Amino acid sequence: MTLADALHQAADRGLARLDAQLLLLHALGRDPGDRAWLLAHDTDTLPVPAQAAFQALCTRRMHGEPVAYLLGHKEFHGLVLAVDARVLVPRPDTETLVDWALALLAPLPAPAVLDLGTGSGAIALALLHRRPDAEVEAVDHSADALAVARANAARLGLPLRLREASWLEGAAAGWQMIVSNPPYVAQADPHLADLTHEPRSALAAGADGLDDLRTIVAQAPAHLAAGGWLLLEHGWDQAQAVRTLLAQAGFTGVTSQRDLAGIERCSGGRWPGPLASPAHLPPKSGPISAPPQVFGSNPDNPS
Ligand code: GLN
Repeated sequence: MTLADALHQAADRGLARLDAQLLLLHALGRDPGDRAWLLAHDTDTLPVPAQAAFQALCTRRMHGEPVAYLLGHKEFHGLVLAVDARVLVPRPDTETLVDWALALLAPLPAPAVLDLGTGSGAIALALLHRRPDAEVEAVDHSADALAVARANAARLGLPLRLREASWLEGAAAGWQMIVSNPPYVAQADPHLADLTHEPRSALAAGADGLDDLRTIVAQAPAHLAAGGWLLLEHGWDQAQAVRTLLAQAGFTGVTSQRDLAGIERCSGGRWPGPLASPAHLPPKSGPISAPPQVFGSNPDNPS
């Protein structure tokens, strides 16, 4: 059997062409970047052991295992991260959050940044990689996920601090930025059926998918420095809801960022500090505050 035959067989079984190419390269012990090599060698014979390995990988892929788990790694924001079933596969959409965070951190020397629900460590490590002067702490409630993040940090030689906790439980105060890609899929969302191989605790968050986002927005003010940012990834249809949560909690400059598909994928705001926070104003101080301004570009809601 030639390499081309193997790829045809995989296509006949219903595998996407790119998936089949990546799995075949993996079975051959080659780099995922070697797709050009594959095309140039499509009349080569596929050795029998590699053929068996490729068939097994294709079967697992047909059963819905993410390609990243089968390869054992995923590229994220220029870093190669080891991933397995203990963590969510980092999505390209989440690079939007990293780019936004980097832009906001640019003027701050040695910023202190907290990443909540770090999983593989993707966001925290991408930030640390680009901002070696930053102090980055990554939190996850899953010891399994932290083990993956720790191994990634060690392999990349990045000095990430890791801590096992649920959201902001036990966190220090005074962070200049808190970032998170929490679970945000509604528990009845049919989309979850396609994601059964990834940890459900990293995906689903209550009836409307907003349970963890609500918790983080409620807890963050006590842990942010005055002027500190809270940046949150959320679902394709949750931007308005998250902006409202942030504004109601007293965040200012609330706004959203679009991912590569043009979807409002993350929202965030700035904590003005204790004096400007409605919760900290003395009672009977007149109007508690002007209605929080919500910025955003949702054409359905220009408020
Ligand atoms: N973006 C992922 C998906 O819908 C979900 C990630 C998350 O819940 N944080 O496939």
